[in-house]
Amino acid sequence: MDHQAPLEFAQRLVALLETGRRVSTYKLATLMAMIDVCVENEVGPEATFAIPISELTHRVIGYYWRQVRPYAEHGILHQSSQKAAIPAFIAHTRPILQAKKLHTPEAAREVGDPDYFSLVNKVQRKLIHNPLTYLQTPNAKSFTGTTDFIFDSSAFSNKMTSAELDAIGWMIVLKPGVAHAMRELAGLIRPVIEIMWTDDVVRWNRHELETDDLAGFLFGSDRSSLAVVGPHLRDLQNNRCFYCDTKLPKTLHIDHVIPFSKVPLDGIANYVAADARCNLDKSATLPIREHTDRALARDKTDLASISEHTRVPVLLTRTQKASAGIYNGLPPGVPLWVGRGSYSPFGA
Ligand SMILES: [Zn+2]
Repeated sequence: MDHQAPLEFAQRLVALLETGRRVSTYKLATLMAMIDVCVENEVGPEATFAIPISELTHRVIGYYWRQVRPYAEHGILHQSSQKAAIPAFIAHTRPILQAKKLHTPEAAREVGDPDYFSLVNKVQRKLIHNPLTYLQTPNAKSFTGTTDFIFDSSAFSNKMTSAELDAIGWMIVLKPGVAHAMRELAGLIRPVIEIMWTDDVVRWNRHELETDDLAGFLFGSDRSSLAVVGPHLRDLQNNRCFYCDTKLPKTLHIDHVIPFSKVPLDGIANYVAADARCNLDKSATLPIREHTDRALARDKTDLASISEHTRVPVLLTRTQKASAGIYNGLPPGVPLWVGRGSYSPFGA
């Protein structure tokens, strides 16, 4: 079977998203979720790849989880030109889970919380009926011809039944080359989608929104998880900066070893304690693999014990898979962060 080359795929994807006006951010959230799953899985350049719809659902919830917080004096932001059910479901469940000290969807998923799984069921149903059925159709009044280039959506409809879902195993199957293209080009596609998403939110909220602050609010990491793990990581690292090994100052920074902008992993396996100088200098740059490997090689029982105290999940497997996916997809010569002011080309 013919497979799609990464650049061709990306061009088609961006063209799809630029055609017509979106009425909600669902398509964008679903695509981000797909890209994240692809980054965490190494799939051959010509292979198909099956993704359980439930997995996409968990990740879509992850994206909206932070976004349904009130945004300063503006309150909860609109994610649609009309009423948007998915963010409303999440906004309803979020405080219920927080009352149980489950601060992230990953934490709720790990403990198998029933309120969280009832949310997953509701969101999954919406995802199937709306963004998955229409994901590959341009937002146009009339468009003829075959549009499926991401996955075969012929079985999907906005009235799809459980029996029909059973028949396809509750999965979507990415077409040959798509998973590989998404992984290879994640670094280019993700920022484009983030910009589109931010613009949509500005359009649907009749406020003066500062897009710089807004993008940080919509796509930044979960500050509450960072705050609670700080003292534990300081102990684990004997009060030393993970990167430069100098004594940690009173105010420490929690660094995402694999930058959050590359893949949104808010788990202890991806956190280290650093001083402000290292953390700010590293910023959104991918570090050399040695740093990431060192973070992933930390004692599993130590990480589990921090997780037990803080209820922040470890996410070791996901972080390992994301690390493999990201580094193995890098072309030689990409500058990687070594230490303050120091970079080294990948593959050197
Ligand atoms: Zn340092």
